[in-house]
Amino acid sequence: MRIRKGDTVLVISGRDRGRKGKVRLSFPRKEEVVVEGINVVKRHARPIQGARQAGIIQTEAPIYVSKLMLICPRCGKPTRVGFKTLPDKKVRLCRKCGEVID
Ligand SMILES: [Zn+2]
Repeated sequence: MRIRKGDTVLVISGRDRGRKGKVRLSFPRKEEVVVEGINVVKRHARPIQGARQAGIIQTEAPIYVSKLMLICPRCGKPTRVGFKTLPDKKVRLCRKCGEVID
């Protein structure tokens, strides 16, 4: 997947368009990620015996990766992601500055 855990991303579509955040969790099979402070939803949690908090809780819902753009850690611009195959691994590239990201 083009976006990975720990990446800083820009939201390009939806309710949080124009905002940036860091990827906290990634679900590659669903092509979704959870981004800090993005796509925050209210959950109505029922009290369950044990530690869980009851009432209305705000959590980040997963967002589809095509709604995001990677922000290049080198040039700081939102960019599309390219790939390059090295002898031992496949790495990601910034399409703006050409720098290897991983
Ligand atoms: Zn770059």
